[in-house]
Amino acid sequence: MTTTHDSRTDIKWVSQNNKLVPYADAKISIMAPGLTFAALVFEGFRAYWNAERKDLLIFRMEDHLKRLEFSMALLELDDPPSLETFANDILETITANDFRDDTYIRLQVYVDEWGSMNSTGPVGSSVICRPRPRVANFQTGQKFIVSSWRRNGENASPSRMKASGNYLNSRLAGLDAKRQGAGGAIMLNDDGTVGEGPGGCVFILRDGVFITPDVTSNILESITRGTILDIGPSLGIPMVERRVGRTELYLAEEAFYCGTGQEIMPITAFDGKSVGAGEPGPLTRKLQTRFDNIVRGVTDDHSDWRTPVYKS
Ligand code: PMP
Repeated sequence: MTTTHDSRTDIKWVSQNNKLVPYADAKISIMAPGLTFAALVFEGFRAYWNAERKDLLIFRMEDHLKRLEFSMALLELDDPPSLETFANDILETITANDFRDDTYIRLQVYVDEWGSMNSTGPVGSSVICRPRPRVANFQTGQKFIVSSWRRNGENASPSRMKASGNYLNSRLAGLDAKRQGAGGAIMLNDDGTVGEGPGGCVFILRDGVFITPDVTSNILESITRGTILDIGPSLGIPMVERRVGRTELYLAEEAFYCGTGQEIMPITAFDGKSVGAGEPGPLTRKLQTRFDNIVRGVTDDHSDWRTPVYKS
């Protein structure tokens, strides 16, 4: 996938261990268990530029912080920073960089310095913010495959936890898709039901109802997914969470992939079989428009989901 520019060059300041430091000076040890044993949990979310208000609006920051709290608890870290500290660090980091465009925020919490697989400290943390435009495939959609890699299970490496270790499974499926010339992958669970993709959840439309795998289907409890389940009914589009069989993907009238990275990205085929007419569907378009109006604060609805950076 191509990016429009290398956003590393735009990062002047990051927050490391709750202090602003120049990006080039932010380092961790090569023996940190966060690196050697993937003792690292993280969050990723977006802030949207509202040109009229000249403000950057962070989308569902509190919900992302709550998910981080859950991931940190499962990692059993010694005394990690509080959610309030993270919230302050995020505002401070964006402001220090003076970002005035759509921005991506990544939080990382890990075991730093030196230790074993079971070390629970010392805890390091970082907040990295960078410009991140919407993916081009938001408009055109992408073709997906069902990967032969299975989604990691609840009792092995739980997907509900946003841990870097889970992304090895994601990477294998992502590379599978790339090798097959597809834009994305869906992973099945061991029982053959649909799980999720490497970095997002899936929705399919059948008989006018959007269906998405339920939260016991080895998915990350995606905040974008939750947002769509919330806004769908308000547009008169019914939404259901349940187990989904592989062949239901092939029966879909419309489908999309969702998550912070892709937002709502149409899926135009599964395993070479067109979804509907093989083009983004009308209900997917309707959800995209409503989603964009909400995240960007074009509507006043759901104002509790947006945290203003510059005009709080
Ligand atoms: N599933 C996985 C595996 C992900 O990495 C992501 C991206 N964070 C999602 C789903 C979507 O989650 P969210 O909408 O909270 O970004």
